[in-house]
Amino acid sequence: MRGSMGTGPAGRVMVTAVRMERTRAGRASIGRTATAVAASAPGTRRAVERSTRGSAPSMSVLNGTCGLIVGVANKRSISWAIAQAAAREGARLALTYQGERLEENVRELACELDQPLILPCDVTSDDQIAALYEAIGREFGGLDFLVHGAAFAPREELDGRFLNTSREGFRLALDISAYSLVALARGATPLMEARGGGSVLTLSYLGSQRVFPNYNVMGVAKAALEASVRYLAADLGPSGIRVNAISAGPIRTLASSGISGFTNILQIYRDRAPLRRTIESGDVADAAVFLLGPAGRAVTGEILMVDAGFHAMGM
Ligand code: NAD
Repeated sequence: MRGSMGTGPAGRVMVTAVRMERTRAGRASIGRTATAVAASAPGTRRAVERSTRGSAPSMSVLNGTCGLIVGVANKRSISWAIAQAAAREGARLALTYQGERLEENVRELACELDQPLILPCDVTSDDQIAALYEAIGREFGGLDFLVHGAAFAPREELDGRFLNTSREGFRLALDISAYSLVALARGATPLMEARGGGSVLTLSYLGSQRVFPNYNVMGVAKAALEASVRYLAADLGPSGIRVNAISAGPIRTLASSGISGFTNILQIYRDRAPLRRTIESGDVADAAVFLLGPAGRAVTGEILMVDAGFHAMGM
C-alpha cells in the first residue's frame, strides 16, 4: 500500500492513502484513494506524535479497527510497544491488566491512548475471559485484532536443569503461556466473525526450537504456543481470521528479567546476529502492525522471526 503526506487547508497534517474499502484488519481490499485527517482528536494527535518518534512513518493502516491487547505490565512490555504502534495507526484499543498490582501501571500508560477500554483479565480464569469479551462486545460491537503477550513460569523453573522441572511449574507455564492463546482466540472468534474476519497475534521465542540455558519449561511452552498458532490458523481461516506469531529476539523486560543469565544471551546476540545488534520493542511493534493490518492479509499460521537474523546462524 502506498501513501503520501502533505499539509491540509487547516494546516494539519493530511495523509493521502489508498483507502481500505473494508477497514477490518487483515481483510481490507485496496480501493479508491481518499484523504483523511490524521488523528483529529487532540489527545490522539499528541499520542501519535510521541509514539512515532524514531519509528516508521504513519499511514494509519489500522484506521477504524478495534483491537484487544493482553500483556501490558509496564512501559517496557512488548505489548505496550505494540499498543502504541496500533494506536499510532488509528486503532481503538482495549487493554487488560493482570490483577490489581498492575492496574495502576496500565491505567497510567493508557492515558496516552484515545478512549481505551481498560479491563481486568487473568488468563487462567475462564470467567474473567468471558467478562472481558462481554465488555468488548458491548463497547466495540466486534473485534478486528487480538494481541496475546502473556507468559509466565515460576522463577525457580528458569534456572538450572530442565530435568528438574516440577509438575506444577510445567502446568502453570503451559496454561498461562500457551493455553491462554486458545482460550482468548475462542472468545474473540464471534466478535471477529461479526466483522467478517480478524487477526490474532502472539509472541514467541526461538527457545521453542533450540535450547537456551535456563529458558527450560518456557521453551516447551513456546513450542506448544507455536503449534497452537498453526492449529488455530487452520480452524479460523475459513472465518477470515488469521493467526500468527512473532518470534522476537531478547529484550530486557519484566518477564525476561526472570531468566537466569539473560544478560549473557543479549551479548551473544550482539556478537553473532547478522545485524550485530539486539532488537527493540519498536522493531516488534512495527512487524506487528504488518501482521495485524491489511499488508498481512494473506499471511496466517506463520512464525515471523524478528531477531536481527540470529535464528539463521549455525554458529
Ligand atoms: P512483560 O513482563 O512485560 O509481559 C508479560 C505479561 O504477561 C505481563 O503483562 C503479565 O502481566 C502477563 N501475564 C503473566 N501471567 C498472566 C496471567 N495469569 N494473566 C494475564 N496476564 C499474565 O514481558 P514481555 O517480555 O513484554 O513479554 C511479552 C511476551 O513476549 C511474552 O509472551 C514473552 O514470552 C514474549 N517474548 C519476550 C521476549 C523478551 O526477551 N522479552 C522475547 C521473545 C518473546
